[in-house]
Parts: sequence; structure tokens; C-alpha cells
Amino acid sequence: MKRIDRAYINGEFTAMNGTEVFDLINPSNHEKIGEVVLGDDNDTKKAIAAAKEAFKTFSKTGIEVRIEILKKLKKAVEKRESELIETMILEYGGTRQFCTAGVQNMIGAFDHMIETLHDFEFERKAGNTLVQMMPVGVVGIITPWNSSNGFICSKFATAVAAGCTVVVKPSEMSALQTQLLIECFHEAGLPKGIFNVVNGLGSVVGNEMVNHPDIAKISFTGSTQTGKMIAKGAVDSMKRVTLELGGKSPNIILDDADFKKAIPQAVFGAYMNSGQACIAPTRLLVPASRLEEVNRLAKETALDVIVGNPANVNTHVGPMVSEKQYERVQNYIHLGLEEGADLLAGGPGKPEGLENGNFVKATIFTNVRNNMRIAQEEIFGPVLSIISYQNEEEAISIANDTPYGLAAYVTSSDERRALKVASQIEAGRVCVNGFKHDPLAPFGGFKQSGIGREFGVFGLEEYVEPKSILV
Ligand code: NAD
Repeated sequence: MKRIDRAYINGEFTAMNGTEVFDLINPSNHEKIGEVVLGDDNDTKKAIAAAKEAFKTFSKTGIEVRIEILKKLKKAVEKRESELIETMILEYGGTRQFCTAGVQNMIGAFDHMIETLHDFEFERKAGNTLVQMMPVGVVGIITPWNSSNGFICSKFATAVAAGCTVVVKPSEMSALQTQLLIECFHEAGLPKGIFNVVNGLGSVVGNEMVNHPDIAKISFTGSTQTGKMIAKGAVDSMKRVTLELGGKSPNIILDDADFKKAIPQAVFGAYMNSGQACIAPTRLLVPASRLEEVNRLAKETALDVIVGNPANVNTHVGPMVSEKQYERVQNYIHLGLEEGADLLAGGPGKPEGLENGNFVKATIFTNVRNNMRIAQEEIFGPVLSIISYQNEEEAISIANDTPYGLAAYVTSSDERRALKVASQIEAGRVCVNGFKHDPLAPFGGFKQSGIGREFGVFGLEEYVEPKSILV
């Protein structure tokens, strides 16, 4: 059992002022696997002071220095790839397939930022004026438990590229993964103070970061509810914010699609990261005239979904991260039944033989109306809602009828038709004919799914501030 009782400040594993302890529980069997000492205001202030001091010199470094650091970070993560995967599986119950892809994305994040940096114009011309893109300052990075390390890597890579220094507050539920990542970065030999981490609660460490005047920007990934609190808190010191929030992504299957391929793909897609993914296509929109066929195909697919030990390479759905999350998903499944949706697969309770962990049955509701709460609210578990539409226009209207706008999916045998539909959807990312990820394309949400963009040039723009020099 591991005990994590150090913050990482100014390049050193530092004793903490905070004393409260948070237990780390294996979600697959409820065994205690570690504990983490939670930081307090003073620990946070210390980390911010270190980042502020380091910013004075790091902000003036040239591109070559930053590229060298990014290369070192990549190598350091690569070296401990398998440990990182195993720890993710153990700590939050992510499936082996998802965690393996996640760590590969972490490694890729450094390469992609190097690529972005090569073309990025730090000096521009506007009219007769010289515009310098200055690093925004100390960035506070706050991450959720799902893919916490992935977000730390992509946000820190962007900060390094911009010349910013960071203080990270990871999810308290991700302490083991974070510790491993800190060790990687420590071994990489970074300039002191550019990367600082304080474990702790959002209401303590996160709150201190949001309110502290020496943090210039908060880069947050998490729920819309917390994002709103952060945005409000950031106003007093006029911090810049990037908020990557929740989603309730529509997946439109047009009537000319290959249903035998599209429906199974849609069901497995909804269960990505055991349904605990912000971009999961949780609303499956299908033509009303084909609903019966869709129901049959979806039901057949559900029989192939393997729920169980996330370490097993064949598993599709692992446990929910915590008992709290398990209860939340159960409540939504009961709610779906109360709201009058028809249960096609799964349902309340735990799958047989998996009573010791936070496992949820892979669940599908059909005959869902888009105004039901199960169609409007983010469940963050393996629960798919099938909603029927009369025509293309109605499909688009249903897709857009949600407070969220993070991702969307369109499937058709006619790519031009799919693109036409895609262009009318209010979402930061629309994937046509499959699930795709381009780490150089901007990623972020419309509406209540967030503010700002991450990745590539668009992400880097959010870490710099234009300064006009008029001679
Ligand atoms: P959460 O909002 O509960 O917590 C996220 C982080 O915010 C944690 O580190 C938490 O400690 C911290 N926090 C909580 N209260 C805070 C406060 N008052 N001030 C500062 N920080 C505070 O989210 P979660 O349950 O960890 O993660 C799941 C959510 O994240 C889902 O809604 C999901 O959609 C979202 N998410 C979004 C994206 C995206 O890219 N858009 C990606 C992954 C997850």
C-alpha cells in the first residue's frame, strides 16, 4: 500500500502542511490500495510562489529550450509506459484498452506540441504594429479523475511551449497515477519550479488556486457544475480560463447508413471508458422507421459487451470510479424506468459475480424522449439512450436540444450528406463515420460544455497574450 505525503514544489518532493488523509480504493474490489495526504492553503501558496519565481526566467527561454524539455518529458513518460497503464487500471478501473490508448496519447501530446511550436508565430504583424505573443503567466491546472494524467500532459506540454509555469491540482482520486507522472517528470530533469503539484480537495487547493492573484490562468477539465464555480471565482482577479466540461453527445445515424455496422459501433462507443467519458456518444438518434431494427441490433450487441475486470484485455466496461459514481449511475437507471423509457439491456443492480466492485450493467434504454432527464443530463456511466427522429431536420434539432455541445457523431454512406448535417450541429467536435481524434485539431465545447480550446495551435493561443508594440 502506497502513502503519498509529499507535494512536488520547486523540483523537490516537499513535506506538507496539510494533514487530512484521503483513502485510495480499488474500484474493482473495494480494497484500500493507498492513501494521500491532502494539501492545504499554505501548501498551495508555496507551490504558486515557486511557479511565480520560475516564470521570471522560464518565460524568457527560446523555442529550442522548450522543445528540448518537451522531448525529455516524452522520453520520461515512454520509459514508464507500462507502469502508468497498470496504475491507471488499478486506481480508477479504466479498461486496459482505454488506458493503453490514454498513455499513448500522453506520449503523443509532447510530439504534437513540438510540431505546433515549430510553426507558431510568437511575433506577428497587425497593420504597422508588431504583436508579440507573451506567455500568460502561472497556469493553474485542475484535472478530473478520468484520464487525469492525460490532461496534465497535454496542458503542461502547452504551458511549456508557451513559456508558462504551472501548479497542478489533480483529482484526489488519481494520486497514485499523478505520483508516477511526477516521478517521470522529476527524472526528466526540468528547470526548477516550472512544474509543481499539490494533491488536495477542490474546495481547498483548487479554491486557493482559483482565487490566488498570482495565477494568471486556470486550465480546468471537469464537470460543468465545478466549471461554473471556477469561472465565477476567477473573475475577481480577471484570470483567463479554459474550461473543458461535460457532454451529452448525440450520435446521428442517417437512414442510408450501414446499420449492421453503425449500431454495434454506436453501442460500444457509448461505453468508451466504461461510459465515463465526456465525449461518449450517449444519445443514439435513429430514424423512427428503422427503430425496430435498431433495437434488435443494439440488443444483440449488448450481449457481446464484456463487463468485468478492467485488467483483462477483452473487457469493454470496467467499474465506476467510486461508490458515489456507482450510486449516481444507478439513480439514473431507476430514473429512466420512472420516466417511461423502455429497458433494452442491463438495468439496475450489479452484474452477477461482480458484487464486490462498482460495476454497472451495460444498459440501453429505447423509446427515450429527448426531454427526459436521462437524455438531457450527463450520467457518466454505461447507459445509452436510443431516441427516434422523423426526418433529418428533426434529427439535427434533437441533437442540438441540450445544454451541452462538446462532441457529436454522424454516420451516413454519403459523406457529403453527413458533412451537411455535421455543419448544423452545435458542438466543438463532430466526427463523421466513426470515432476520431486529431490531437492537432481544436478541442472544446459549445454552450455549457466549456470555454476555450485545447490542442495544437488553438490550444497554444490560449496560453499566450498578444502585446502590441507601436513604434
Ligand atoms: P469534478 O468537476 O467533480 O472535479 C474536477 C476537478 O475539479 C477535481 O480535481 C476536483 O477536485 C476539482 N474541484 C472541485 N471543486 C472545485 C472548486 N470549487 N474549485 C476548484 N477545483 C475544484 O469532475 P470529475 O467528477 O472529477 O470528472 C468528471 C467530469 O469531468 C464529467 O462531467 C466530465 O464530462 C468532465 N470531463 C470533461 C472533459 C472535457 O474535455 N470536456 C474531459 C474529461 C472529463
